[in-house]
Amino acid sequence: MVMTSQRAVAEGHSKNNGNSYEVIIVGGSFAGMSGAMQLARARRRILIVDAGRPRNRFVASAHGFLGQDGKSPREIIGLARQQLAAYPTVAFFAGEAVEGRRHETHFELGLSDGQAVKASRLLLATGVRDELPVIAGIEERWGVSVFQCPYCHGFEVGGRQLGVIGNHPMSAHQALIVADWGAATYFTQGTFEPDEPQLAMMRARGIRIERAPVVEILGSGTSIDAVRLADGRSVAIQAVFTAPKTHMASGLAEKLGCAFDDGPFGALIRTNEQKQTTVAGVYAAGDAASAMANATLASAAGVMAGVGAHQSLIFEQASSRQGDGHTPIDPEARHAS
Ligand SMILES: Cc1cc2nc3c(=O)[nH]c(=O)nc-3n(C[C@H](O)[C@H](O)[C@H](O)COP(=O)(O)OP(=O)(O)OC[C@H]3O[C@@H](n4cnc5c(N)ncnc54)[C@H](O)[C@@H]3O)c2cc1C
Repeated sequence: MVMTSQRAVAEGHSKNNGNSYEVIIVGGSFAGMSGAMQLARARRRILIVDAGRPRNRFVASAHGFLGQDGKSPREIIGLARQQLAAYPTVAFFAGEAVEGRRHETHFELGLSDGQAVKASRLLLATGVRDELPVIAGIEERWGVSVFQCPYCHGFEVGGRQLGVIGNHPMSAHQALIVADWGAATYFTQGTFEPDEPQLAMMRARGIRIERAPVVEILGSGTSIDAVRLADGRSVAIQAVFTAPKTHMASGLAEKLGCAFDDGPFGALIRTNEQKQTTVAGVYAAGDAASAMANATLASAAGVMAGVGAHQSLIFEQASSRQGDGHTPIDPEARHAS
């Protein structure tokens, strides 16, 4: 399967002469490939640049993505890549976009192999990097027995003793939701105290509250038996949920001058309804531009961004032909060169 994919990548490159594309998509995961699919089907020359580190790469199986439930992220993304590679105007670059510059008529990206590539439109689907709370034993269990989203992984740990470790002001809210999957303990870490209405709901739902900070996660290998508190006690827990702080996985949006908004977990690239950023011609989708960390939602935003970028190309080309003697635009002409 890897061989097939690599062959497809090589073919994609040979289909494009030169380093110029109509759209370059940075990030070839759920959001980026969904946008790419719309553009590929619109017969646009596109390049997908991907460093191969999707946010959920730590899990053995991803859940809730319609028709793909239980497959590994690598499998889902690999299949999408294979399907995209069958389109004649798609090229791939396995590596990183390290530089980004805007020029008057196009954008230029520097790739990790030293190449420069350019395009009229960019789609940034670069995702985010998670910053976990600093607790011994958490990193190695991320995506295995420590999760962020109960809709993605709650079913598999349903009915067990669940711990929610406070990491920011939304954590008490997360504990109220996670409790729907099992007996829950909310660890405030001495900082993220629930407000009065939340306390009342926690009492009503039987959620235990611990104010002594969790300092270590205990259990053999990547399983969890308990958490150890700063006061020396331990609490029996079998799975942990926590919402990490997030950071942009790539500095490209900033380099290109895109504006950001404060999201609940970290900064997000500001976009409009068509997923265009504050820089004309630069689109953004997925976790880099939305606080709702979910592959389906990232994919849906990618579709919108791909459609937005495509339609902006159509309307730009149509308006640049106005007043030239009413020559109709021949859609095949783009493919002739
Ligand atoms: C532990 C965990 C488990 C999860 N489980 C699920 C689940 O079961 N179901 C679900 O629906 N959601 C799940 N999610 C959420 C899901 O992972 C994200 O919502 C989704 O991956 C977002 O897709 P994206 O395309 O926006 O970004 P990502 O999937 O993070 O992909 C971004 C891509 O861009 C690449 N990239 C970044 N910068 C550059 C650059 N400069 N140059 C080239 N490439 C670059 C990265 O390498 C990566 O491949 C989980 C999240 C976590 C943290």
